[in-house]
Amino acid sequence: MQLSNEEIRRYSRHLILPEVGMAGQKKIKGTSVLCIGAGGLGSPIAMYLAAAGIGKIGIVDFDTVDYSNLQRQILHTDADVGRSKAESAKETLAGINPNTEVILHNTRISAENALDLIRPYDIVVDGTDNFPTRYLTNDACVLLKKPNVYGSIFRFEGQASVFAPHLGGPCYRCLYPEPPPPGMVPSCAEGGVLGVLPGIIGCIQATEILKLALGKGTTLINRLVLFNALDLKFRELKLRRDPKCPLCSDAPTIKELIDYEMFCGIQPAPAEPAANPDEVTVQDMKRALDNPALNIKVVDVREPDEYEIAKVNGVPLLPLSQLGQRFTELDPNQQYYLHCKGGVRSLKALNFLREQGFKYVKSVKGGIGAWSDEVDHSVPKY
Ligand SMILES: [Zn+2]
Repeated sequence: MQLSNEEIRRYSRHLILPEVGMAGQKKIKGTSVLCIGAGGLGSPIAMYLAAAGIGKIGIVDFDTVDYSNLQRQILHTDADVGRSKAESAKETLAGINPNTEVILHNTRISAENALDLIRPYDIVVDGTDNFPTRYLTNDACVLLKKPNVYGSIFRFEGQASVFAPHLGGPCYRCLYPEPPPPGMVPSCAEGGVLGVLPGIIGCIQATEILKLALGKGTTLINRLVLFNALDLKFRELKLRRDPKCPLCSDAPTIKELIDYEMFCGIQPAPAEPAANPDEVTVQDMKRALDNPALNIKVVDVREPDEYEIAKVNGVPLLPLSQLGQRFTELDPNQQYYLHCKGGVRSLKALNFLREQGFKYVKSVKGGIGAWSDEVDHSVPKY
């Protein structure tokens, strides 16, 4: 594999590094990377890998670009809102480095296609934000003996490592044998994330990929780096392989991909979702607000910061986080409709109030997001 004169000019700052040089740059060019997710982490990873001259980058993403992505997903621009993330990513990467071949996999990675998706690539990088995909990626990489460059982010904190049992380190399951119970760990959509955080963690992942391609330096195999942006602190944990790991130990019990939704306790969505008797619609909520004679009180159980972003006029706030101390302010014999952002926390609040003896409580399905979509577009979505 040769470098053209144009490539020699392009990569000159690499070529003069003794640790890279012509031989190293050719290794980078000869490396293929599958990037799972073209979102917050996938953006800096794919952009820096393309700029650095990785020969082939595969992008797996089935999502479309939303306004709420632009605060951190720098692969996509304002003009890309509504477009496929994979298509938008390909265009951005072609603009950075036309020498990099970009392969689009406009699909959701699943137990059915994961092995075929991953097999042709040298290195896999995990830029996903959910547990089923994280375990799926880990398991497929261990089975195929591919290094899995891991990163995750939440609010102001992130972590990164390289999982590669075939190179002597642990896998994700050695660290986290069981996924957390569903709903216990909020997603970035629920808990928020600082926009630059995926930039920092994603760049750590891109660094590790280049080192793996070059075969230089000390990688994050056997180490977990933890980063806190609020305190600007890095910490490091030494990792060990779990000799009883069900996947990467000498006597594995997992020898093929499993059902990851079930493993993570996520119920498959029924084709025709059954109506939940505890839920009412935003139209019901509107009727309750318009007709005081119905004697139904609507309560917002979101947090004060969210109330400041968007609220429904005339609906008081009683945050879920304060409900344990403040539920006595409510009347156990009154009818209540509870709403939150999307309808999950209001169900939690409902269950709590039931336990306290409240009889007439309902949760508003879809929360203030559905209210904005279906009742009042002037209420901003966040
Ligand atoms: Zn393991």
